[in-house]
Amino acid sequence: MTNSPALGDTAAGGTALSDAAPRDVAAGGPAPGDAVTGGSATTDSATAALVELSRQLGRPDRRWAVLAEGNASVTLGDGRMRVKASGVSMAIAEPGDFVEMDTAAVLRLVDAAEETHPDDRGAGDLGDAVTRPATDTTADDEAVRALFAAASPGGRRPSVEALLHAVCLDLPGVDAVGHTHPVPVNALLCSPLASLLVDGSLFPDQIVVLGTDPLLVPYLDPGLKLARAVRRMLRDRIAATGAAPKVVYLQNHGMFALGASTAEVLQVTEMAVKVAEVILGSLPAGGPVFLHAADVARIDTRPDELLRRAALAAATAAPAPVVAPTGPARTSGSTTPDTLTDRTPDGAIR
Ligand SMILES: [Zn+2]
Repeated sequence: MTNSPALGDTAAGGTALSDAAPRDVAAGGPAPGDAVTGGSATTDSATAALVELSRQLGRPDRRWAVLAEGNASVTLGDGRMRVKASGVSMAIAEPGDFVEMDTAAVLRLVDAAEETHPDDRGAGDLGDAVTRPATDTTADDEAVRALFAAASPGGRRPSVEALLHAVCLDLPGVDAVGHTHPVPVNALLCSPLASLLVDGSLFPDQIVVLGTDPLLVPYLDPGLKLARAVRRMLRDRIAATGAAPKVVYLQNHGMFALGASTAEVLQVTEMAVKVAEVILGSLPAGGPVFLHAADVARIDTRPDELLRRAALAAATAAPAPVVAPTGPARTSGSTTPDTLTDRTPDGAIR
């Protein structure tokens, strides 16, 4: 990144996270009467896991996404993706709050837009992208409107971030994505110290869960412009490192967690929030001290850490169990969630 800031400023303090987070993502079962997809058991299972991921990401005690902030998505294995509809609260999302889209059709729009706007190709550069004026947003908006209308037979419109979800889900090894605006992460992303999130690694578990190459994207108008820039930056990153990042940080906006499963998305989000809190906590004590590159490389490749990473992946790769519907029915207009998201697959409350 090009704008590595000087240390010294004290950013806003992070929030204390609840330690009540379950280790695994429990599947949220469809509510009675919800027409999930009318599709296969695989699709229903993916939707159930997606609903539970949304509820976990939207848990109000975490403050990762409030009101209708954030969104989540999964691949359905048949060229389609399922993503949260616009205006839905993650904390109380239900199966009917998600819409299906043809992933390839979304990506065609993103790539066609890039051909239409060759001037935007410098967006990989932080300075250029931040200062460059928007181009032909009317045509872009119209193209997005048409695509979303086609995906909205029941009146539910996909989130504007569906474009970026498709970009992320197109990456190798990525089958689930969660987008949130966690307070401690945004405290850094909305400060001159945002690059501290990507300038180095601070502790071993960060490397195990988040890898070593998170991506920081300059602020861009959410929608087609942002999706186009991130697609290009991800391609550049994969060409350079050989792997997709686990986290994409968006300056003055929030974060995308990329995972092979919904459970991994939750883990990545939790760890990214912790990293942000550690950075914020270190600032009054002189600022973060990053691990040396040799130590980072050692942790990234040493056998016991690889085993730990494999164990985490195995734990998250298991199909999400489908449990009976939990919690009371949503009341119209309420954004106050119940405690259903604290339930584990065995029904216990943690
Ligand atoms: Zn957002």
